[in-house]
Amino acid sequence: MYDFAVVGGGPAGSAAAHRLATEGASVALIDKPEQGHNRPGEHISGSVANALQTMAVSAIDLEAQIEPSPAIVSHWEYLRVIPYDGADGRTAFNTTRAELNALMRKSARRAGAKIIDHVVRAISNDGGWRLSFPQTGDCLTARFLVDATGRSRSMVPQQETIRSGDLAACTVWFEKSDDAPNDKALIIEAFSGGWWSVCGTPANQTVAVMYFSPRLSRQQGGNVYDWWERGLEHSPLVRHTLNAAHFSDCDFRVFPCYPTRSKITCGVNWVAIGDAAVAYDPICGQGVKYSIESGFRAAEALLCGSTDSALNHYNDILIDRYDDHLEKRKIVYLDAESVFSPDFLSISIPN
Ligand SMILES: Cc1cc2nc3c(=O)[nH]c(=O)nc-3n(C[C@H](O)[C@H](O)[C@H](O)COP(=O)(O)OP(=O)(O)OC[C@H]3O[C@@H](n4cnc5c(N)ncnc54)[C@H](O)[C@@H]3O)c2cc1C
Repeated sequence: MYDFAVVGGGPAGSAAAHRLATEGASVALIDKPEQGHNRPGEHISGSVANALQTMAVSAIDLEAQIEPSPAIVSHWEYLRVIPYDGADGRTAFNTTRAELNALMRKSARRAGAKIIDHVVRAISNDGGWRLSFPQTGDCLTARFLVDATGRSRSMVPQQETIRSGDLAACTVWFEKSDDAPNDKALIIEAFSGGWWSVCGTPANQTVAVMYFSPRLSRQQGGNVYDWWERGLEHSPLVRHTLNAAHFSDCDFRVFPCYPTRSKITCGVNWVAIGDAAVAYDPICGQGVKYSIESGFRAAEALLCGSTDSALNHYNDILIDRYDDHLEKRKIVYLDAESVFSPDFLSISIPN
């Protein structure tokens, strides 16, 4: 029997597994096998570099997977360039998320976690946890379960969720051509029905994301391709960037990304971390940072003697931060009040 089964090998799961295994706990880190998919979330807060150091991610491996970003080029309420000057942790890097995730899992393995590449489907709680792998018929048991399954929150049925507004991300990975512009800066642009982010990755890709309300777009008719074209029509900066780059070979996917949290983030013998506990609007640019932090915090709570009060404290910190996020998010969206349509504003930041 393992001390801990951590399900989900994203940033949160790897951070928690690394911390727990470093302290000598027996840990299984279980993640869906990679199927060569791109993953969203390529522009990362600079403070994540410290967390990666704490996880002893190899500097040489990391160097190949990240490149510093000089600035945000924002066409929100008006056009401005916001340079990252390194002060107050205000710097950032671009990465290829699948590769960065793999490096973090590798660190967790080096710390002693057993990595299992499988989907876990069935769980029963019988004083501990029994996890079964339908593809092989195998199973394992663990005393404590850490749900790091991201927004799917697929492990613990008690986790009711509270969501705020309606927002999805239509994400396209373009292969960058030789004449593509230097896109190490993060481009942000608001338009009446949503907003964009565009930036490059070290893997010679450009990732363009249109954030929009599926509910509102359905009311207006058309399909996701039409919505993309409509968005581009009203976004000169992004249109210019994507046109000039002359792309080919697209991978195109839609992800939910409205803010949401679990009503409760911990219970008897379980805790949720990362997006499985609290998921933010990507406008905050801190998703990976907060996920790693919550993985570390939960691990600290589990490693200290009085687990219940430590986990309740963990839960309170997460909920305070989420409430703070909702307030700040509202201010950021209202900054572009003259650009966003009233319908988009009322559906994305409901009262
Ligand atoms: C479109 C978009 C853009 C974003 N952009 C940014 C950005 O630029 N910068 C930033 O910092 N953040 C960004 N984010 C947020 C960031 O990606 C997330 O906050 C972060 O990935 C959450 O990490 P996590 O470990 O909690 O979950 P995830 O990264 O979602 O990892 C969960 C893992 O669990 C696995 N899993 C799920 N169910 C099972 C199961 N049953 N069995 C086994 N494995 C399972 C999944 O395969 C996955 O590997 C973005 C998010 C979106 C949607």
